[in-house]
Amino acid sequence: MVNQNWISRTKIWNQQYLRLNDSLDIADLPLALALVHPNHWVDWKGEEFKLSEEGWPNQALLNCEFDVICGIPCAWNADKRLQGKLHHDHRWPESLGGPKSGYNLLSLCANHNWAKGNGLWGFDWGLVPKWLGPRLIELRDRKLHGIDPNQV
Ligand SMILES: [Zn+2]
Repeated sequence: MVNQNWISRTKIWNQQYLRLNDSLDIADLPLALALVHPNHWVDWKGEEFKLSEEGWPNQALLNCEFDVICGIPCAWNADKRLQGKLHHDHRWPESLGGPKSGYNLLSLCANHNWAKGNGLWGFDWGLVPKWLGPRLIELRDRKLHGIDPNQV
């Protein structure tokens, strides 16, 4: 028998999801990002699942992107001998539900990666990221699998 608490949590999640526009816009960002948090990666029975990242293009990590983020040229980009190995980071942190691949990848030199930490420096609040809509749809499908979404 399914725990009524999990059904209630699924209903609340679905009600919030239905408040979003069909095509996400900037006004949807805070709610949409809250709904992809790993705390919600459980189905209506309370069983955990992982979201897929198959088929998501990886970007070539050639330069430290801190230039783009702060507008000040990164000294390591000017001389590859200084640059060293670039680090993979994430625009929306993985710990908050951001994908580990594709459009969410951020390349940073070691210094800027350490300076950024797990913060939101690489996230652009003026743009809906390409991964967010598909991730929400997959999350909804997995969360509601086995029950009629119209009844939730
Ligand atoms: Zn840098």
